[in-house]
Amino acid sequence: MPAPGDLTHLRGFLCTVNFLARYLPKLATVSEPLRQLLKKNVPYVWSDAHEKSFNAVKELVTRAPILRYYDPRIDVVLQCDARRELWIADTLSRQLPCPTVKPGAFAINLAEHELAIDLAVTAECLQEYRTTSSQDSELQAVVVAIRSGDWSMPAVAEYTPVKSELSTDGVLVFKGARLVVPRTLRSRVLQQLHAAHMGIEATRRRARESVFWPGLNGHIKDMVSRCSTCAAVQPSQARNPCCLMKSQLSHGPSNGKAENAVHTIKKLLSKSEMSNTDPLLAILEWRNTPSEATGTSPAQKLFGRRCRTPLPVSTGLLMPVVEDTKAMVQKAKEKQVQYYNRGTKLLPDSRKDNQ
Ligand SMILES: [Zn+2]
Repeated sequence: MPAPGDLTHLRGFLCTVNFLARYLPKLATVSEPLRQLLKKNVPYVWSDAHEKSFNAVKELVTRAPILRYYDPRIDVVLQCDARRELWIADTLSRQLPCPTVKPGAFAINLAEHELAIDLAVTAECLQEYRTTSSQDSELQAVVVAIRSGDWSMPAVAEYTPVKSELSTDGVLVFKGARLVVPRTLRSRVLQQLHAAHMGIEATRRRARESVFWPGLNGHIKDMVSRCSTCAAVQPSQARNPCCLMKSQLSHGPSNGKAENAVHTIKKLLSKSEMSNTDPLLAILEWRNTPSEATGTSPAQKLFGRRCRTPLPVSTGLLMPVVEDTKAMVQKAKEKQVQYYNRGTKLLPDSRKDNQ
């Protein structure tokens, strides 16, 4: 590599070398003459001192530990920051079986092959999940499969379709950021998911942010369909087609939203009273359920983040995120009209109004 002929090339060279600065403790001293040339009012005159400094920096970056030949006889330690948003590091962090590599020829000791996801739950609750998970033979078979990469055991068959999304801390199993609930706690978690007596899809959206187990969607459908409280408060009247223009002219969007909120809360409180459950917990669950249109919950719209509830949720999901809600709300409005009008028919009264 020839010496940089001008300031631009020198800047480029130093900039590249600086990427490795944390591995080059002497870099600042060795490159000092070169950095002097970057100063204002210093003419670019390449001297022997600069040549010496340039060669010394090249020597630093082309020898160990920065650069060396790969030696298959030496163990390799791969360190990964295996956060979910770093897809490549996350993939590298999983110990996958590799049939093309002979055993012992290339052993990778993965320093970080298990993901520890923090759950925002009480210590007692966490302990309960850990104890029941450790006693759940199916879940422990999944832990073994995640660690070994061998998914041939019949006990883990239901988890095979989602195996690439599974991780473990050794006892608990996660699908993405969702906790895989042990079998004995599933009926209780179903009740918690349905605390606000929301419909099937809303309850599923709530579950998608928190928990998982094979067949969860079907279990939610069965539970909500059989819920006597929900059945008693089913709307019976046929819906009227919605006209966005008319609704805005006659009521104004703010009134519509306020009316909707009052209607929802009234329904929620009466369901809570009927089922003799805690109304505050029901409201909390409703506030944390993402809406179909925007994908965000009332809590996220108001506070910019999700709230803690009795359901296990990863602490990462409780971090505040500022969203551009204006565009989301506009899109949601159009979507709502489209969905609302599906399968509706004009009632006699509204036909008259529209004439
Ligand atoms: Zn219900």
